[in-house]
Amino acid sequence: MEPVLSLNDVSIVYPGDASDVRAVRNVSLDVAPGETLGLVGESGSGKSSLAAAMLGLLPAGARVEGTVQFEGQEMTQLGETERRRLRGSAIAAIAQDPFTALNPVMRIGKQMVEFQHWQKGLSKTERWNRATEMLARVGLSDPELRMRQFPHQLSGGSRQRVAIGAALLAEPRLLIADEPTTALDATTEAQILTIMRDAKAEMTGATVFITHDISVVSRLCDRVAVLYAGELMETGPVSDVLANPQHPYTRALLDCDPARIDRPTRTLPTIPGTVPPPGAARKGCVFAERCPAAFARCAIEKPKLLSCGAGWKSACHLVTA
Ligand code: SF4
Ligand code: MG
Repeated sequence: MEPVLSLNDVSIVYPGDASDVRAVRNVSLDVAPGETLGLVGESGSGKSSLAAAMLGLLPAGARVEGTVQFEGQEMTQLGETERRRLRGSAIAAIAQDPFTALNPVMRIGKQMVEFQHWQKGLSKTERWNRATEMLARVGLSDPELRMRQFPHQLSGGSRQRVAIGAALLAEPRLLIADEPTTALDATTEAQILTIMRDAKAEMTGATVFITHDISVVSRLCDRVAVLYAGELMETGPVSDVLANPQHPYTRALLDCDPARIDRPTRTLPTIPGTVPPPGAARKGCVFAERCPAAFARCAIEKPKLLSCGAGWKSACHLVTA
């Protein structure tokens, strides 16, 4: 099946004062129809830059090397009008802060109706009813009342439910969710993940779910891509990667996952050290300074992404195919 989204050897470069900053380096990824890809990384991993490139929303001056193709169209070559048209119809986004998606001075109902403007052949009443049903589906009580309210009258969690409902109403062929549950409490997060998982069953489009929390991936995603300092460390089916991570960085992320900690204190272990700056020249493995398994070769030679199973790759010298 043709991928909906195809990234080939993508680097994202921001011009800096002294030298250019490479936020993403040589990342290749495909997302198939109906599939949910989890893009995981700490802050500074380049995941938000990748999301912006997929949405055609990189700031002016940023340069993309390689290709970002949505249904075969090169996103980086499209004009602003064309990209905006895609973002309003075929591609939808859910951001961490739902305020960015909602107009503060417009009632929810009116916005939910307008979100469907590209869907032809629906009357205003049908749009209104679809929107009300969607608000119920994303778990809002009294959807008729919600339709008449303004965004500020809702809690953060309810606003995020509205934003997700709006994105789903669009029936996008590509949905990009950038940390949509990060700002929410654990209960609301769990409910929203369930809503997204249920919605996925009906979605024919592809979803990219961006998160710093690898435990979220197991609840929602089919495949995972782990980024570190702008580079792809490991990618493969969630069931393989999470059960038997091949890359020491993936292993470290899983060790930091609070859901896996059963000690009474529930202290969160962190990976010692910091992410290398995106501007620095690189030699050897980018994770070497923090890697508990590093050995002499790691400081000199950059590991290639090697196959460790069907659709599964890891960039580590320790991988034995
Ligand atoms: Fe660790 Fe070396 Fe593998 Fe890099 S290549 S992840 S430093 S063992
Ligand atoms: Mg981010």
